Amino acid sequence: MNTQDYIKLEDQYGAHNYKPLDVVLNKGKGCWVTDVDGKRYLDCLSAYSALNQGHCHPRIVQASIDQAQKIGLTSRAFRNDKLGLFYKKLVDLTGYEMALPMNSGAEAVETAVKIARKWAYATKGIPKYEAEIIVAEGNFHGRTTTIISFSTEQFYKEMFGPFTPGFTAVPYGDIEAVRAAINPNTAAVMLEPIQGENGVVIPPDGYLKAVAEICKENNVLFIADEIQTGLCRTGKWFASQYEDVRSDITIIGKALSGGMYPVSAVLADKPILGLFQPGEHGSTFGGSPMAAAIGIAALEVLDEENLAERAMELGEYFRGELRKIDAPVVKEVRGRGLLIGVELHPEAGGARRYCEMLQEEGILAKETHDHVIRFAPPLVIEKSDLDWALGIIADVLKR
Ligand SMILES: *Cc1c(COP(=O)(O)O)cnc(C)c1O
Repeated sequence: MNTQDYIKLEDQYGAHNYKPLDVVLNKGKGCWVTDVDGKRYLDCLSAYSALNQGHCHPRIVQASIDQAQKIGLTSRAFRNDKLGLFYKKLVDLTGYEMALPMNSGAEAVETAVKIARKWAYATKGIPKYEAEIIVAEGNFHGRTTTIISFSTEQFYKEMFGPFTPGFTAVPYGDIEAVRAAINPNTAAVMLEPIQGENGVVIPPDGYLKAVAEICKENNVLFIADEIQTGLCRTGKWFASQYEDVRSDITIIGKALSGGMYPVSAVLADKPILGLFQPGEHGSTFGGSPMAAAIGIAALEVLDEENLAERAMELGEYFRGELRKIDAPVVKEVRGRGLLIGVELHPEAGGARRYCEMLQEEGILAKETHDHVIRFAPPLVIEKSDLDWALGIIADVLKR
């Protein structure tokens, strides 16, 4: 079978809810991937930041194999010998008192919504079912029915209603809008510290800190969705740390498994996460021995290989060099750590074209929101690989 055969097979039998670049990958190592024709590419997407540790990190592969040979799934009807260790690792590294494991990011967001609502009724005393959660315009928190209910992207919702009530969207980056939207029924404010899917949108300095303070003053929970920005991607464990914010609830996923298995988690202190009673929430695979063993290895790699520092240093370098590229199509280069957006002028005709040209030259990147190319390579990337990529990016952007 060749590339076209694989594509035909997918298109014939699979739902068309994605429009991938026409590249069929079958191997990955670090920041490099190989397609079925043997062509190598530098991965500058990292599966939307799930691969901060790089493809097939030997330690995470080994942990997967070792665990798969022992026991894969127990369900939470029984205990397993890895879950407690995973909790301990999460708590030690993040400073929260408790964790709740799920699988996908969207499930962790749903979990955060549920616990924020329970806190609103059980602790804050909001009348039953009047709790509201404030979110930001341009948000991306996943694809479940409840989550798309508070998306402001019409395309994500069109044809999928009726929607879950209880959410209010305010402009991202606007402190006063959050203040004005809070009322006695507000349970939480939920934000992405940087809006990755919305085009790597960074809020004004002081925004997160101010919002966290407003939340505190009003007895409202501050929820940070760090599924994409967390786990070292932006040069710190959490992007909220750029403003010394410790959110009441932090949601993580993606790189929590280094790409080997879906693992997500909600982190919070006991007065919040301790509110769940047995039976109120769960997941068959969440917290399985596989997930826990892989999660531990993924966290150890982030920690022991100092990937936050690496993202910080290489990110500064990469952004600096990208800004030096003298191409009229470029409107702005922005980002933190190795989460970088290159915004093109609308006259450039959209970012997709440029991603296809980059693919041709051996770099895989993905447009986000029409005019932005996102560069988010694995954090294990070498400076020499970045230099190689910069040459090609400069050439493509100047075409
Ligand atoms: C990817 C992402 C999600 C959803 O995660 P899934 O694993 O795809 O369900 C939620 N929030 C943010 C910020 C994300 O980037």
